[in-house]
Amino acid sequence: MQTGKIGVTSENLFPIIKKFLYSDHDIFLREIVSNAVDATQKLKTLASKGEYKGDVSNAKVVVKLDTDAKTITVSDNGIGMTAEEVEKYINQIAFSGANEFLDKYKDDANAIIGHFGLGFYSSFMVSEKVDVITKSHKEGSQAVKWSCNGSPEFTLDEVEKEDVGTDIVMHISEEEKGFLEDSKISGILDKYCKFLSVPVIYGKEKEWKDGAQVDTDKDHQVNDVAPAWTKMPADLKDEDYKNFYRKLYPMGEEPLFNIHLNVDYPFNLTGILYFPKIKNNFEVQKNKIQLYCNQVFVTDSVEGIVPEFLTLLHGVIDSPDIPLNVSRSYLQSDSNVKKISSHINKKVADRLHQIFKDNREDFESKWDDLKIFIEYGMLTEEKFYDRAMKFFMLKNTEGKYFTWEEYEKLVKDNQTDKDKNTIYLYSTNVEEQFTFVEAAKNKGYDVLVLDDVLAPHLINKLEQKYTDKRFVRVDSDVVENLIKKDDTTKEELTWEQKQELSPVFQAVCPEDKDYSFIVDFQDLGETGSPMVITRNEFMRRMKDMSAAQGGMSMYGDMPESLSLVVNTTHPLVKKVLDAKDKKLGKKLEELTAELTGKKDEIAVLEKAKEGKKDEEVPVADKEKLDSLNAELVKLEETKREQLSDFGKKNKVAKQMVDLALLANGLLKGADLDKFVKRSVELIK
Ligand code: ADP
Ligand code: MG
Repeated sequence: MQTGKIGVTSENLFPIIKKFLYSDHDIFLREIVSNAVDATQKLKTLASKGEYKGDVSNAKVVVKLDTDAKTITVSDNGIGMTAEEVEKYINQIAFSGANEFLDKYKDDANAIIGHFGLGFYSSFMVSEKVDVITKSHKEGSQAVKWSCNGSPEFTLDEVEKEDVGTDIVMHISEEEKGFLEDSKISGILDKYCKFLSVPVIYGKEKEWKDGAQVDTDKDHQVNDVAPAWTKMPADLKDEDYKNFYRKLYPMGEEPLFNIHLNVDYPFNLTGILYFPKIKNNFEVQKNKIQLYCNQVFVTDSVEGIVPEFLTLLHGVIDSPDIPLNVSRSYLQSDSNVKKISSHINKKVADRLHQIFKDNREDFESKWDDLKIFIEYGMLTEEKFYDRAMKFFMLKNTEGKYFTWEEYEKLVKDNQTDKDKNTIYLYSTNVEEQFTFVEAAKNKGYDVLVLDDVLAPHLINKLEQKYTDKRFVRVDSDVVENLIKKDDTTKEELTWEQKQELSPVFQAVCPEDKDYSFIVDFQDLGETGSPMVITRNEFMRRMKDMSAAQGGMSMYGDMPESLSLVVNTTHPLVKKVLDAKDKKLGKKLEELTAELTGKKDEIAVLEKAKEGKKDEEVPVADKEKLDSLNAELVKLEETKREQLSDFGKKNKVAKQMVDLALLANGLLKGADLDKFVKRSVELIK
């Protein structure tokens, strides 16, 4: 028997390993199993070169759990090690690797928690003792057993072992006995070893017998040794990709498309990415991209490796070139990782463009599920934006799809205003904005549907890129004003009349904490609606955007200001005007006369003040002016009150406002009920 001391600088390396790596103890099994896989592959390589004569066709790794002995054993029939190799690889190399690793990160415990590659020595995170029983493939080798109890001392003995290969026996420590659960081990194997390239056996296949699950004689293989991404795209059918998706995410909804990545220069990368259906509300995607390194699962948090918007995708990326044993921040600055990121970015755009070109109909049918993803990419990745402009789709209210270029051609002639801006009309909710959509269509305009949460942001971006194009929501103004082709509008009402009608209609506007109303006048033609409600484009967009960001902003809290546009040429407006004259005619005339009188007096006094210093103006004049002004305010107040009172009692005015509210989906509850009753009364 030989005893010795491992070449360690620190006497207490094991406590450090245990302490630093506590967060992810599961990975010890990944490390030990992947070493076993490596060992069998090395032997296969030797056999293929004729340097090993034995049989390698039955290469496999067997994981055994012995709850009585409290051990987990990982056995392989791989290359094995001679005593010298154990000395070299286990005592020196592996340990020095561990040492170096800890040295590098001793000041930054967080950097190593989670992702690392301590390899063989990670077995000490869960074991009080580890045995390595190994027999080299070299002819006439003597099997040896290395044993270490977690101190830097080890023993090395000659033992009997029939077959070539290695058994790693981990004596699980008391505090880690959770790893002696069958379900725990299956769970870890399923997570990390599902796609390893050599069969990994754990237990037996089970079957149902007399209402219970029992073992059969058949070995249970936990992995698929040739997952879809390792095959050539030409050898795979659509169904194969779908099956693989189900294997990755048994609960997932069927994906829309897939992309098979296959790069060997300037770095190695394979993988399959899937486009999931993304709901309009941008729900968090639970099925994350899984990152593999030579078929060994590493992580499913790929932030920093793929562009942020692509984290919405599902699937697998496998690359031996992504440095895994480093911290996240290092990963993000790694030049290989950057290249990989931009490559995937390009591939995804190319693939989408391809599908668009090959089968536009299919692409259009999936657009609604894809658009959030594409819009997100366009907003966050300039390069993707440039590529996406070729296949980005605009959908109109008729359900027709256009590329940016096609749409530009469609509306250019008819929707360019007097300032040479092309106006892209859109609706965020065709049902709610129905009257406006109809009005625009009747006028021969086309209306887009831009109804998802990212649309307001995308609109801003597009307007920045194309300064001669503007997006205008259909209900932001009356149809005549959406696209202003000339400046002339004929005046039907006098200034005075408008001033008087304004409080009349203001009085019948609903009081609401979310909205405030401003009365405005416009000529919408005798056959147009008597009154329409429009929402200010700027204000509304700001509100929409702040809502998408969680609603915590200045615009989110402000009441939305709506314009109540009175159609100056509509007969009903004339009717209200006439009713007002009839009811208030005399009184108003008197009031108005009085008001003008006061105004004249004020004007005279103001004129007299001109050019004089304050102390030169007689005190009496000053007092007179103050009292006149006060009277003026009072008179105006009275006038407004009169008009307001009249408005409140005028059913036609109320009915007109309610109709406009109704068209905007703003008339609800008790108000709606009153409206219905009043309508019945009016037609009686
Ligand atoms: P790495 O796998 O990165 O080389 P490890 O610490 O996991 O580092 O392993 C150290 C070395 O020990 C390996 O490179 C290999 O030479 C040897 N080794 C570990 N496990 C086995 C095994 N099951 N069969 C043969 N050699 C092994
Ligand atoms: Mg290893």
